[in-house]
Amino acid sequence: MNSIEQALTEALAIGRQYVNQGECASYIPELSRADKHALGVCVMTASTDRYAAGDTKTRFSIQSISKVITLAVALQHCGFEKVFEKMNMEPSGDPFNSLVKLDLTDDKPFNPMINAGAITTAGYLEPDVSFEDLLAYSRRVCLDEGIEIDERVYESEKNHCARNRAIAYLLQSKGILTGDVEKSLDLYIRMCSLGVTAESLAGLGLVLANGGLHPRTGNRLMDADVVRVVKTIMLTCGMYDESGEFAVRVGVPSKSGVGGGILSVVEKRMGIGIYGPALDKKGNSIGGRHMLEYLSQALGLHMFGTGEA
Ligand code: GLN
Repeated sequence: MNSIEQALTEALAIGRQYVNQGECASYIPELSRADKHALGVCVMTASTDRYAAGDTKTRFSIQSISKVITLAVALQHCGFEKVFEKMNMEPSGDPFNSLVKLDLTDDKPFNPMINAGAITTAGYLEPDVSFEDLLAYSRRVCLDEGIEIDERVYESEKNHCARNRAIAYLLQSKGILTGDVEKSLDLYIRMCSLGVTAESLAGLGLVLANGGLHPRTGNRLMDADVVRVVKTIMLTCGMYDESGEFAVRVGVPSKSGVGGGILSVVEKRMGIGIYGPALDKKGNSIGGRHMLEYLSQALGLHMFGTGEA
């Protein structure tokens, strides 16, 4: 067993100790059907070696991790200035589905990693970029041709999206969503319903770690400056109102979703994908969070080093 394999085995054992303390998301009813004890971690290295432990082939919905892909496409398609004309790039410190500050203290979504921001991004794309285009692009950047929309999750979220619909109409009232509100919301929900695996997330992590180049062919999948913006926003905002502590403890740009996924990027070295649908109170995979904390120490992944002189 090499050191990565061993670290993954140990991480899995550690993560499993926490799973009972979490719960599957239930506000989208279909998500509550997941096996709360499922847990897996996959690493894809720059030399495209793949290491896996646990449930890394189970399909689950990407949920908020799709915000990374939609942001990348919006930056490619509209450019930096346009994307951030009506949206900030600050951590909100609030839950991902909050609309309080959007209404009371600021007229712009705090960042593209919370729902208000991602619905705004979907609104930028909706007139020109179809869901089919986004699906094809998601397959490319996740190195996974097997990605499809999970229709049950899509229907379930579509039927239980009162809060996101409220956010979308609030955005319209502030002149941020200027196109078709229902179509923008639909695009957002479709993207959240993509079925991925821990392996697909490791693939996306590796593309981001590799500056946007396909790790095998060297083809450019994302512009280098887009990748830089996306990774920075993942670091500061990707784990919702747990982003600060997560950055201290783990120290790699990451993005979580309420389907139980976490995507992590270790600059130039590897992509990491996690699946663990038992969530903590902030909506992050509880087993996943502890696995990443262990892996960061065991493999020396923190972007600011070990802290030793
Ligand atoms: N589709 C989910 C929602 O809009 C995504 C949230 C998440 O993964 N944090 O609520």
